[in-house]
Amino acid sequence: MVPERLAGAVLEIDLDALVANWQALGERAKPAECAAVVKADAYGIGAAAAAPALAAAGCRSFFVAFPAEAVALRSVVPETDIYILSGVPRGAEAELDDLGLIPVLASLDDIAAWTAEAGDSRPAALLINTGMTRLGLGAADIDILGRDDRLDGIELRLVISHLACAEEGDNPMNRAQLDRFNELRAKLPPAPASFANSSGIFLGPDYLFDLVRAGVALYGVNPTPGRPNPMREVVRLTSRILQVHEVAPPMSVGYGATHKVAGPSRIAVVPVGYADGYLRSLSGRGFCYVDGRRVPVVGRVSMDLITLDVSDLAPERSGPGAPVELIGGPVPIDDLAAAADTIAYELLTSLGPRYHRVYRGGA
Ligand SMILES: *Cc1c(COP(=O)(O)O)cnc(C)c1O
Repeated sequence: MVPERLAGAVLEIDLDALVANWQALGERAKPAECAAVVKADAYGIGAAAAAPALAAAGCRSFFVAFPAEAVALRSVVPETDIYILSGVPRGAEAELDDLGLIPVLASLDDIAAWTAEAGDSRPAALLINTGMTRLGLGAADIDILGRDDRLDGIELRLVISHLACAEEGDNPMNRAQLDRFNELRAKLPPAPASFANSSGIFLGPDYLFDLVRAGVALYGVNPTPGRPNPMREVVRLTSRILQVHEVAPPMSVGYGATHKVAGPSRIAVVPVGYADGYLRSLSGRGFCYVDGRRVPVVGRVSMDLITLDVSDLAPERSGPGAPVELIGGPVPIDDLAAAADTIAYELLTSLGPRYHRVYRGGA
């Protein structure tokens, strides 16, 4: 834990907003259960804080990407279902089963390895490829599973698929994947089904099935791009100005001297950089708020510092020590991600280890 006095910036995480988002998504998904996707350290906000807060509010199912994440999560939310989206590495079957972890199996080989040498049947989910073509069983695999007894050693907890275009509500791909999912899962033994991610929850009742897998929307990112954000803000990043330079042409700012000041300017230096997840693609394109006013990031984002043009601000309120709003509040994370030519998922999961982290609320 980095103490505030020694940190360049402060990352505030609102666990009450996280829980409220989970409750709101669960309300919308009813009667489906709302599971929480907490892979990648809960999208950067910290799974060790996020998962217990959600569990205390009643969340019973969690998804992670990798076995190591599941093992770590097991000790913080002991009494819950933890699914591993990437399945089980060969040789780790007994270890994961002993911890009660549930792999999402995506091939006939995965199924064979999970059932081999098991005493009783082992819990697992099956993943069907309906168009995403990352992991998943194909139509030929499903036909084989429908014909023989390979699933006998499995306690089938969920049949899953994943949408490729869920955030585009009118994309015909969504309906095509849904139809394929229904067609293929009908060939398997009856089991609860799960199809929707955050954005999928907003596609209508046909997409909800028995359990929805909410990720990014829990953390305050807009699951309905182009429409108002229905989620509460969870993440706020703030810092303070370190130094201000009064410069005039022909001076330039930063690596590569990419920003040449056009006239007499005040350039503020802020201690956050791409090593902290303030992406380098925000060079000359990002923005912050100082003293309630929007100010541009000028010049390149460097590893540890960014530079802002604060020429239009009152010098007494934009000098060393003045607060800077970097993410959240007037800087919606979706807007900052758009400025970086990426998605808020990437900004969140890039948040670095050098911040002073403050968790508010929670159980
Ligand atoms: C990451 C992931 C999710 C969560 O997606 P969000 O868009 O963040 O809600 C759900 N299902 C699978 C298979 C995933 O990989």
